[in-house]
Amino acid sequence: MSTPLVLGHMDVYGLIGAPVEHSLSPPMHEAAYEALDIDARYVTLEPDDGAAAIASADQLGFAGLNVTIPYKEAVLEAVSPDDLAAEIGAVNTVDFATTPPGGYNTDAEGALRAFRHHDIAIEGPAVVVGAGGAARAVTVALVSEGLRVRVANRTLDRAERLADGRAGVTAHGLDALPELLADARLLVNATSVGMGEDRSPVPKAALHDDLAVLDAVYSPVETRLLREAAAAGARTVDGAWMLLFQGVAAFEHWTGREAPVEAMNRALRDRL
Ligand code: NAP
Repeated sequence: MSTPLVLGHMDVYGLIGAPVEHSLSPPMHEAAYEALDIDARYVTLEPDDGAAAIASADQLGFAGLNVTIPYKEAVLEAVSPDDLAAEIGAVNTVDFATTPPGGYNTDAEGALRAFRHHDIAIEGPAVVVGAGGAARAVTVALVSEGLRVRVANRTLDRAERLADGRAGVTAHGLDALPELLADARLLVNATSVGMGEDRSPVPKAALHDDLAVLDAVYSPVETRLLREAAAAGARTVDGAWMLLFQGVAAFEHWTGREAPVEAMNRALRDRL
């Protein structure tokens, strides 16, 4: 039998997914509550069913939930997604202030805000490497900013499905990267290549000093791609910034208050 969750008078937020044990979201959000003196807690849960967990959390009185793999798509049916989340087809933030709960995709917002925080103009052509969940969020975010996006993925078929029906998005294999990057201004690695390993999905020779490069991978913080991009004179933004700003955007959806970005960033980087 599980221990009952005691809500009391405080606001309870959380993360559902599997696995969530090593998530950096609890310290990041609890640092925000502390900085702004908000009486709230952030818990992690591994339910068996994502959509059912949304209904249960609503009944239990949760104020908000983050959603991670494998439930980002499944929870769509349990929420009212905003336009961006509906277009992406995935939700990572649920706000229980409304009925049905609101659904957002702050991975998309996180990538845009990570660039903006570094005063990097969101201008194309852009190249997104990968065609999974993160790539979909980043691609839709960039398209929503009016950019043309070239998606390059190991499995071409998956890139084609991402591009299908989206104006301004083209699909390619990884071997096209040198050509795709030649006149590109933005590059985002949205594959898991580089996570816990010293590998890059992009040939070093294709990097240049007109590029701004965001790596969604945040462990290690300085990936091989970012090292090689910096050496080529490109501006670089590490994945911890994207992680930070997806959390910042979630916090702001939930509370309507400006997030204490510095405190959240410190809590995150202390643990990376
Ligand atoms: P996903 O849906 O499983 O997609 C994985 C992607 O990586 C696919 O495009 C896959 O290509 C590619 N890939 C995997 N191994 C590869 C290899 N050896 N060579 C080339 N490509 C390879 O995962 P996701 O949810 O999109 O996440 C991708 C990465 O982004 C993860 O590292 C995740 O932690 C990170 N992420 C970071 C943030 C952040 O806030 N910083 C947010 C979301 C995700 P195929 O299609 O060919 O398999």
